[in-house]
Amino acid sequence: MLRIALPNKGRLAEEARILFGDAGLDIRSTGDRALTASLGGEFEGLFVRAQDIPEFVADGAADAGVTGWDRVCESGRDLEMLVDLEFGRCRLVVAARDDSGIVALGDIPGGSRVATVYPRVTASFFRERDIEVDIVPISGAVEVAPHIGIADVIVDLTSTGSTLRVNGLRELDTVLESTARLVVAPGSAAAADPARRRSIDELATALTSVLRARGKRYLMANVPRSALELVKRVIPGLNGPTVIDILNNGEHVAVHAVVPASTIYRTIAELKTLGAEGILVTRIERLAP
Ligand code: AMP
Repeated sequence: MLRIALPNKGRLAEEARILFGDAGLDIRSTGDRALTASLGGEFEGLFVRAQDIPEFVADGAADAGVTGWDRVCESGRDLEMLVDLEFGRCRLVVAARDDSGIVALGDIPGGSRVATVYPRVTASFFRERDIEVDIVPISGAVEVAPHIGIADVIVDLTSTGSTLRVNGLRELDTVLESTARLVVAPGSAAAADPARRRSIDELATALTSVLRARGKRYLMANVPRSALELVKRVIPGLNGPTVIDILNNGEHVAVHAVVPASTIYRTIAELKTLGAEGILVTRIERLAP
C-alpha cells in the first residue's frame, strides 16, 4: 500500500478530490472524519490538515502528499516536488496599512513587527534583504494585526487581493508564489524501493495527463479536401491533424486534432471560413506526456 497525504478540508481539499477522481483515484467524501480511505489500486489516502502534510511526508508517515508550496517552504523540510497541480494558486505577500506611509520594502523601519502565519519563510525573506524586523507568529486573521496594534507589517497569502484591500492594506512585495504540489521525501522508504517509486511515478504521470488534458479539446470537422493545407495551419494539432477519408464523393475529408481550449471559438470561426462542416468538440480525459 502507498499512502498519500491529502488535505481533509479547506481550500485545497475539494480540488484535490476532483483531480484525483479525474485521474481514476476516487476520494470519497471524508465528511465522516475517516483518517484513511482506499483510493483504489495500491493507493490509500491519509486525510490531514494541509499545513501538517509536509511533516507527515518528511517523517515517512505518508509516501507522498498534496499540499500548498507555501506550506512546503514554511516546513523547511527537504521535500521533492513531483507535479505542480496548478490549483490553490496564491501569493505570499508583504503588506502594510495604506495610511502607514510605507509604500516599498525600503520604507519599513528597522525593528518593525511583522505578523504572519509563516514565521520561517518571513524571517529568511527579511534576513536576505538585510531588513531587521521582529517576527510576530500568529495562527490566523493576519490582516487585522496592523489594526489592533500587534504589528506594523504583515506577510499573508492573497489570491485576488480583495481581502487586503478591504482591510486597508497595501501590498509591498511578493515573498513566494504557491500552488498545490505533489511532493515526496527524497530519502524515504518509497524513494528507496523501486516498486513503490514506480507506483508514485505512475500517479505523477496520471495527474500530469489529466492536467495537460484540461487545457485541450479534441476537435473533429469535415473540410473540403482542397482546403487541407489551410486547415493544417488553423489546427496544427500535436503532430499535424489526422485526416480521414469520408465515403461519399471524395470532396470532403474528416480532420481530427487536439487544440487549445482557450482559443476554441476562434478556431471554429476560422475553420468555418474554410468551408468546414459538422464541427464537433469534445473534452479529453487524459493526455499522456
Ligand atoms: P487551508 O488552511 O486548508 O484552507 O489551506 C490553505 C492553503 O490553501 C494555503 O496553504 C495555500 O496553499 C492555499 N491557498 C490558495 N489560495 C489561498 C488564499 N487566497 N488564502 C489562503 N490560502 C490559499
